[in-house]
Amino acid sequence: MGHLLSKSKYIRGLQCDRALWLDVYNPRIARYSAEQMRRFDRGREYEYAFKDTFPEGIDISAEPKRNVDAYPSLTAQFLDREEEVDLFEAGFLFDDVLVLADVVHRNADGSLDIYEVKSGNVLSDTYKRDAALQHYVISHCRAINKFCIVYNGVDGVNGSNGFNIVDLTEDLEAQHDEIARNIAAMKEILRHGEPATPTGQHCLEPYACPYQHYCAQGVRQMSLF
Ligand code: SF4
Repeated sequence: MGHLLSKSKYIRGLQCDRALWLDVYNPRIARYSAEQMRRFDRGREYEYAFKDTFPEGIDISAEPKRNVDAYPSLTAQFLDREEEVDLFEAGFLFDDVLVLADVVHRNADGSLDIYEVKSGNVLSDTYKRDAALQHYVISHCRAINKFCIVYNGVDGVNGSNGFNIVDLTEDLEAQHDEIARNIAAMKEILRHGEPATPTGQHCLEPYACPYQHYCAQGVRQMSLF
């Protein structure tokens, strides 16, 4: 079964309902700046460096690659085995939301330790919102032992080897009701035509929206519905 929302679409939806709609129905018009692309690359490099600390890790994305809807069943095949294992890009689907976890360690009792890797130097609210969605989805699929965010601490000051690891399990559990409400609201948005949301300060925070050039034209795509 395919998914409707992903982590990135959910985060987009928290910023703007129109951006969510465009992300789902017309993502090809998104435009990212060179600086945004460099930031994505830096994030990937940092994530790879953390994954290197799990030398036995199995990359779920290696075979299905862009067919992300195949990730949850492949992930389940590994997690159903009665043995410890480290997985990269493990997929979980619940409530029409697909999330891919950067690093998952299956403990001997079947519970999961999850590590979400962020390259920023500060544990931002956006990182926490992102983690809260993942915790919501994964906890409806498997028992979670702990959910940690890994961010870019300064070596010798904030964390060892530049990896600052913070366990947010209790905080994230407390947000489940809010997450469920947000998902329901986003599904409702996607049942209708493009929202007429006007541009404003929200187009820049917390991220520069990739649809600013489009919204500045003042047109909406009503023909789909
Ligand atoms: S440019 Fe602004 S109004 Fe348009 S989709 Fe992005 S955040 Fe929403």
